[in-house]
Amino acid sequence: MINKIQKVLKKYWGYDSFLPLQREAMQSAGTNHDSLVVLPTGGGKSLCYQAPAVTMEGMAIVVSPLISLMKDQVDSLNECGIPAARIDSTQNALEQRDICAQIRNNQLKLLYVSPERLIGGNFLSFLTRAHISMIAIDEAHCVSMWGHDFRPEYHKLSLLKQTFPNIAVHAYTATATEQVRMDIIARLTLDNPTVLIGSFDRPNLTYKFQRRDNLIDQLTEIIDRHQDESGIIYRISRKDVEETCQKLCKKGYRAAPYHAGMEDNKRQKNQDAFIKEKVDIIVATIAFGMGIDKSNVRYVIHAGMPKSLENYQQESGRAGRDGLEAECHLIYSGNDFHIWSFIMQDMEARAKKIAMDKLNHMFQICSGITCRHQAILSYFDQSLDKDNCGACDVCLGEVDTLDDAQIISQKILSNILRLDQHYGAEYNALVLTGSRDMRILENRHDQLSTYGLLSETPKKVVRDWIGQLTAQGCIKPAGEYNVLNVAEPGWDVLRGKSTPRLLKPAKKKKTTVTKSSSAGSESWQGVDRALFEILRILRRDTASSKGIPAYLVFGDTSLRDMARLRPTTPENFLQVHGVGEQKHKQYGKIFMKAITRHCQANNLEMNVI
Ligand code: ADP
Ligand code: ZN
Repeated sequence: MINKIQKVLKKYWGYDSFLPLQREAMQSAGTNHDSLVVLPTGGGKSLCYQAPAVTMEGMAIVVSPLISLMKDQVDSLNECGIPAARIDSTQNALEQRDICAQIRNNQLKLLYVSPERLIGGNFLSFLTRAHISMIAIDEAHCVSMWGHDFRPEYHKLSLLKQTFPNIAVHAYTATATEQVRMDIIARLTLDNPTVLIGSFDRPNLTYKFQRRDNLIDQLTEIIDRHQDESGIIYRISRKDVEETCQKLCKKGYRAAPYHAGMEDNKRQKNQDAFIKEKVDIIVATIAFGMGIDKSNVRYVIHAGMPKSLENYQQESGRAGRDGLEAECHLIYSGNDFHIWSFIMQDMEARAKKIAMDKLNHMFQICSGITCRHQAILSYFDQSLDKDNCGACDVCLGEVDTLDDAQIISQKILSNILRLDQHYGAEYNALVLTGSRDMRILENRHDQLSTYGLLSETPKKVVRDWIGQLTAQGCIKPAGEYNVLNVAEPGWDVLRGKSTPRLLKPAKKKKTTVTKSSSAGSESWQGVDRALFEILRILRRDTASSKGIPAYLVFGDTSLRDMARLRPTTPENFLQVHGVGEQKHKQYGKIFMKAITRHCQANNLEMNVI
């Protein structure tokens, strides 16, 4: 069975091997055994059901939460020559009837359908008369209230097992804490499922966090390193989206805005322009992204702190889905924390507590100096298998740490003890910096031996240090008011047994040209960049004339491989990563022609196989 799948993988997708856990996931799908597959974005989840579905008798039902996502997947399958369709509310009666006929005639291998369409009306009973191979639930975390994206319609999906007791159900998601995982299994009533959990690390992403000072300069420094490449800039508010976008456009960048306050068609138009590469940059609120499968986003910048690490993982994860190197920047300020707190103030008490805890944690990570890859992994109860990730600002040695961190930390920790561990971060910072605040004078805390010990340092910096000590476990905020307590690692610092790391106060940012990571230079090895550019434009124009996103024609990996191998014969063209038979048939001629022309004009070797 797995051999059959492997053949399909080559024939339709042009892939020679499996990504981690894909083989196991496909094995489960191919042998009708329920499964829960948790893989990060870009981990290749779709293939886990698509490839087995092609080899199996009948049609797979794929439940997916967003129409744009379904459309993308169906287009992508059709591009590979696989009969697939979707059924949703945007189609008229005629179109729907046509698809129902295809289902009845057993012509489809995969059918994408939204949960409300599936459960509502009598569609489900119609499907019981069709030959169904398997059921796949995409974005399965939507069934769980604990997830970040709960969808009430997903709740009814337990009906599937009742309606199709003999058909395996497979759930796929990128974000799942233990709690969400259990919830998915319970809600979908999966039967003794194979549970496959991949590593959440995305080694091809380089994370860099920095404080906000002059935002536009900070942005352009990053964007300029990615000329003609696609990037996403997230801002928290709609107003900021508009403002940042205007400033960038004024400077000549090709950017478009996206937020929920825009008219539907305008928003759709901008999203389309980004996907079809008519603009390079989309400046957006987090309303943008769910359902965007664009594989060649080369950077994601958060110009504003996300509200949780889970959100950050999800949003930044939209970079580099194709596995090629990409950058994730987080440009934060303390004010972002207050903006989110304000947005969350009207939430119901319990939900608010959860949201505020997540927000606090996110802020600690920002101002902290633990490896960013490790910080994200810890959130999902995983850990990095190396000390230095080589792909974050901390591990690349770009954060400036203090030499006298131990002494400063001891001052801060002593102050917490002098205050009997009864006060929060703000109050502690006030005492340490020697503030004449009324409360301090009334409490006679100006008499403490630690009062004013850090009076040379701005209060903001002291608060950051408290945050960093918290992130490193030395301080533990407790109770409703997050009063600071000294935790065990903090006692080690007080005893002089260990030294935490503290950031130097923000200085004027030096413009360092970042070396691309080693993964990056490798993926460009042997690639003729000029040819890559030519192929990229050819891809955009080809896609544009077909009205599909550029990356559905070929991914960046395929284009680089073409510009490396420079094939001019069908056999060699089929050797290119991600080129299956259908892609070759559709696009082989024009791409080989462009390759031949460029190589002859520049005296370049062809067919470097
Ligand atoms: P996910 O849904 O997990 O985010 P996708 O299914 O969109 O990931 O796959 C991410 C990218 O990896 C896509 O461009 C896809 O074509 C590619 N991919 C998937 N499986 C393989 C494979 N076995 N070999 C090479 N590339 C693959
Ligand atoms: Zn690191």
